[in-house]
Amino acid sequence: MTTDVATLLPGTDVEALTAPEVLGVMVEHFHPSLSLACSFQKEEAVLLDMLLAIEPGARVFALDTHVLFPETYDVWRAVEKRYGVRVEVYQGPSLGRQAAAHGDALWASNPALCCAIRKVGPLGEALSGLRGWITGMRRDQSPTRAGAPKIAWDERHELWKANPLADWRDGDVWAYIHERELPYNRLHDRGYASIGCTHCTLPGDGREGRWAGSDKTECGLHLDA
Ligand code: SF4
Repeated sequence: MTTDVATLLPGTDVEALTAPEVLGVMVEHFHPSLSLACSFQKEEAVLLDMLLAIEPGARVFALDTHVLFPETYDVWRAVEKRYGVRVEVYQGPSLGRQAAAHGDALWASNPALCCAIRKVGPLGEALSGLRGWITGMRRDQSPTRAGAPKIAWDERHELWKANPLADWRDGDVWAYIHERELPYNRLHDRGYASIGCTHCTLPGDGREGRWAGSDKTECGLHLDA
């Protein structure tokens, strides 16, 4: 099995591929062992629309931390209705079970453990058995994402990872959403550029509103970009 993108796609300039072309390549090689990681932010609004146009049976999954914003659940329902898709759900323990094991408000006392339980563990389950996954990461979101490739082998999870919007800017995303009148998370209209859990997300540009006031910048899902 190859882990070299040049062997997977011989003669292809991967960096020159457009977002729909990246998605097309991933579908061609890996569907149905391929899934889009959806956190119901503006980037996924674009990717859902493109991916389901290419492959109506494409798979989509979400990590439900049980502490998502009501606006996130609203757009989740809107997306399922618009496209007739069923988003696969992966989740950690209920808040009650987490509190019993680790105390209340783990996000305040130990956010790394909280993310491990609510995000990283469920992501591992979601990726288990897949050969490829797709994310909405963009290079200009934060310095930790500046080197995100469009398609690369994901060493940590041992499957192919695609970031079709890696070279998109904020304005590109909004232009696509407005042109096609896509459902999107309304928190974006209230200054939230990046949206995660209620306890750890404030309004702000880029990812500055995530874990604001702490050194934490990523939840552990994309440490290798
Ligand atoms: S973002 Fe906050 S609430 Fe969500 S899993 Fe991580 S620490 Fe917990």
